[in-house]
Amino acid sequence: MKRIGFIGLGVMGRPMARHLLKAGHAVCGYDVSKEALADLAAAGGTPATSIEVVVRGAEIVFTMLPAAPHAIEVYEGAGGIFEAGTPDQIFVDCSTLGIQAALQLHASAAARGLRFADIPVTGASPAAAAGTLVFIAGGDKATVDEVEPVLVAMGTKCVYAGAAGNGQAVKICNNMAAGVIKAAICEAFVLADKLGIDAKTFFEVASQGSAQSFALNVLCPHPGILPNAPSSRGYEGGFATRLMHKDMLLACEAAAGAGAVIPVTNLAARLFGECAASGMANLDNAVLYQYLLGRTSDIEPRAAA
Ligand code: NAD
Repeated sequence: MKRIGFIGLGVMGRPMARHLLKAGHAVCGYDVSKEALADLAAAGGTPATSIEVVVRGAEIVFTMLPAAPHAIEVYEGAGGIFEAGTPDQIFVDCSTLGIQAALQLHASAAARGLRFADIPVTGASPAAAAGTLVFIAGGDKATVDEVEPVLVAMGTKCVYAGAAGNGQAVKICNNMAAGVIKAAICEAFVLADKLGIDAKTFFEVASQGSAQSFALNVLCPHPGILPNAPSSRGYEGGFATRLMHKDMLLACEAAAGAGAVIPVTNLAARLFGECAASGMANLDNAVLYQYLLGRTSDIEPRAAA
């Protein structure tokens, strides 16, 4: 049993903390949302009033925050994790921050003599709920090995990806593919709809045929087909479009720096950005299907030849 701190108890952090509690760990958590803290208390955890309180009592502190600016503030800000942290503790960020932000946090921790690892996750909210996430670790191997027994309470395995920042690198390569596939599945439902094809008929064929994918078979964007998919509960409680857009932009940014040519991801990033800006930022990204249904022209209408 470990004393665990958990900061960021949203769609992902909340079920992750519950799995830690179920495994017998003591969890003290913090979130800016009062509702998230009440949920932690209801699950048997201890809600804290500040980051400092969480860090003081913990052997391992996890963060599961929306994006880089939130994580930088929580780790490096006044009253943040690094101010309160000590070298005997381990700090693990599981958010998707991008490579540069992760490297900044690794450097900042090292400068203070603290231990930090970037260990983002894949599997989406159904895997967080089921405790079947896959963790992808970057950083010092001994540090990662020390937290691995705790990680498996929330997931099936932890893949060690190597040097600092590599957890993020693998994660954004995964998510750029996931985002492109999601956009393609949404477009296929839009075309099926416009062609007068029943969505269930299309799903029956595609989910067993060559279009089968996580985006279709687990997270089908058409409502009413998979009862547990966010689309069947008003696109609530899944992977927010704003976060998918962020991940696609992180991939575009990394590709620009590395000289990788990723035109399809660039286009999908723009599409998710437009969808988010249309008022759908907080809904699950499969809402792209609804956004596209409502559009009357292509993303870049071509001039007539
Ligand atoms: P979320 O927005 O539901 O949760 C983030 C939580 O952080 C919220 O409860 C918010 O109140 C809290 N928070 C924000 N700023 C804070 C601060 N300064 N101090 C304390 N708490 C703060 O997001 P999520 O869906 O849980 O995703 C979290 C991270 O995991 C993101 O980086 C995302 O890209 C990644 N991720 C999400 C999924 C998914 O399917 N939702 C899957 C894999 C990875």
